[in-house]
Amino acid sequence: MLSPLSLAPSFGFGDRLGLATPGHIAALRGTRFAPIFAQQSVRENARTGRTPQQVLEDAKRAVEAAKWDAPWGADADHLKTVDDLPPFIEAGYTFFTVDPGEHVDNEADTDSVDALQQKVAALDWEELSALYLPGHGEQVWGQFDAESLKRAMVKYAKAIELAVTMFKYLSGLKDAFDYEVSVDETDTPTTPLEHFFLASELTRRGVRFTSLAPRFIGRFEKGVDYIGDLSALDAELEKHAAVTKYFGTYKLSLHSGSDKFSVYPLVAKHWGERIHVKTAGTSYLEALRVLASHEPDLFLKIYELGRERYEADKRTYHVSAELKRLPATHDLPSLLNDFQAREVLHVTFGSAIGKFGVELKAALSKHETAYYEGLRNHFEKHLGLLQD
Ligand code: ZN
Repeated sequence: MLSPLSLAPSFGFGDRLGLATPGHIAALRGTRFAPIFAQQSVRENARTGRTPQQVLEDAKRAVEAAKWDAPWGADADHLKTVDDLPPFIEAGYTFFTVDPGEHVDNEADTDSVDALQQKVAALDWEELSALYLPGHGEQVWGQFDAESLKRAMVKYAKAIELAVTMFKYLSGLKDAFDYEVSVDETDTPTTPLEHFFLASELTRRGVRFTSLAPRFIGRFEKGVDYIGDLSALDAELEKHAAVTKYFGTYKLSLHSGSDKFSVYPLVAKHWGERIHVKTAGTSYLEALRVLASHEPDLFLKIYELGRERYEADKRTYHVSAELKRLPATHDLPSLLNDFQAREVLHVTFGSAIGKFGVELKAALSKHETAYYEGLRNHFEKHLGLLQD
């Protein structure tokens, strides 16, 4: 049944075409994770032309057909304003992810002390310094001094404000729901000490959040493995886990979780039960893999459109592929294993669905066994590495 998942370890599957849930269910059965079978951001819906209601209906149909009778959730992802909420609430979503990233002051990390001081003047410095300055005891995630506390306040104050506002709005309309605060798409990483500050302030303001998505160090690009120093990330994830354990009231959430195979063993080790992982576009890439093998003409049309649209479509995503580095190959399925091609195809999904959506869906229905099989294998690989 559709319900909040609270603190159970959980895994989110986005499905941009509305046909992938049977494959997701097959992969998830028997794992330790509670599923989010409907998960779509406002940004994705704008690009796919689907409504929150349609996304949920597509998942529901597959859940019923597969006789999945355990709890599952529906995630209204990356909500940026209160106005984004109503259509998801009306449709019956159970999990709400607020993304106040646009209100994070990325300059706070490098502002001069004078500039910082001016910004702090507008905040409750007296109250917060009494809470966070000396006497707090050194923890593994570090300790504030006056300057670092000011930087954290300035960086996150407005974001916290929006998270509080949206939580209150939801609480006025719903009794039980999962609430996630995500700052994963900000320019600067969230240090473990800043994570502590965020969690502490949200808690103090009465926000009952079930998960929190910091922006981790290194690069979590779409549809490809982690780019960065894994041993530094290992140490950092351990500290984030320590902060989470200190509060004990929420899970850590990994966004852009698709294909981060080198990271899964680390999060499984450090985060344990307090884990949520989100994936989305990788299911779309599995759909394209089916086309590459079975409907090469359609695949080539989508690939060509992707190359035309990449520079424009990539703007709101973190990707680093370059068109000039695309491989020259006639082996189409191998493109789905290539870093450059994966990113190009990944971020141009909206253009592809807009132009070829009908043909794409028809092709997947025709080859549905291959599609479900591909999805199952792909996600079994994800979930296998995330077992504890
Ligand atoms: Zn995200």
